[in-house]
Amino acid sequence: MPETLIDLQNLNKIFTFTSGIFNSQNRIVHAVQSINLQIWKGETLGLVGESGCGKSTLARLIVGLENPSSGFIFFQGDDISSYDKRAMKIYRRNVQLIFQDPYSSLNPRKSAISMVKEPLIIHRSGNSDERRRQATELMEKVGLSAEQANRYPHEFSGGQRQRIGIARALILQPQLIIADEPVSALDVSVQAQILNLLKDLKQDFGLTYLFISHDLNVIRHMADRVAVMYLGQIVELAENRDIYESPLHPYTQLLLSAVPDCNPRKKRKKVIIKDEIGHGGNRGCNFQDRCPYKLPLCKEQQPVLQEVNKQRFCACHLAGSIRMS
Ligand code: SF4
Repeated sequence: MPETLIDLQNLNKIFTFTSGIFNSQNRIVHAVQSINLQIWKGETLGLVGESGCGKSTLARLIVGLENPSSGFIFFQGDDISSYDKRAMKIYRRNVQLIFQDPYSSLNPRKSAISMVKEPLIIHRSGNSDERRRQATELMEKVGLSAEQANRYPHEFSGGQRQRIGIARALILQPQLIIADEPVSALDVSVQAQILNLLKDLKQDFGLTYLFISHDLNVIRHMADRVAVMYLGQIVELAENRDIYESPLHPYTQLLLSAVPDCNPRKKRKKVIIKDEIGHGGNRGCNFQDRCPYKLPLCKEQQPVLQEVNKQRFCACHLAGSIRMS
């Protein structure tokens, strides 16, 4: 069994919004629902789902930018809610986030090298010369030259800005990188370069990735295992090949039926959905309004993520009996 780096246990995040100044009624959004998930040391765990399904909230919970409403996050066996200030600082060193939009995540008034070495200053690591040397070396490693070190964000392309963001995330030598849609704001021609860079860095630095994307092709290229998220829940979890060759959950099947296969002879069954609006209520399966296989039980009882085969998990009352050709 691989070593577990992060262990999420029954993790929930609920947001409460007030609808408007004349309306005192609160709207409750259950952004993350009862998530049980492990990230193994050294793997790339892909997290896929449509926009607004809770992927980024989950990332922010793991990094510590949000507090869970309930549930636990364990890092190397320790419950992070028990950490004091010092332990939390060490945890934050070890778990770094790469953002979706490389432009808005950078300070326009700071040079590239200032931003890359800033985390070292915050964490009081090394002296000024050591910080500059480390930052320059890392910038070269991610494909930025020493001449570019003193330039400002507006002088870089989108791909180069993302390279600065990657160097900044790596400078503290973290164990886990959470990459939240790291290529979705980039031109298609640049996406492959950044993805391959991330793969190389993982190898060179012995990293673990939680790689978040709405793009199934990107996840297929990057991930060892894939977790599929729908309205706050993990509905399927399996190894990359199993997800793409024989998806079990109707939602995974729906996502895959919309992706063209690179093999023209391989025809995927088109999954017909009933409507475009998710259920997301408190009773029954979150996917019931869109599911073509809905049973009476699906209205009453929310399915839980259960192991169907070895390391294949699915949250559906029909798990294992619906096959996609
Ligand atoms: Fe469809 Fe029922 Fe499975 Fe939900 S539990 S995905 S409604 S078959």
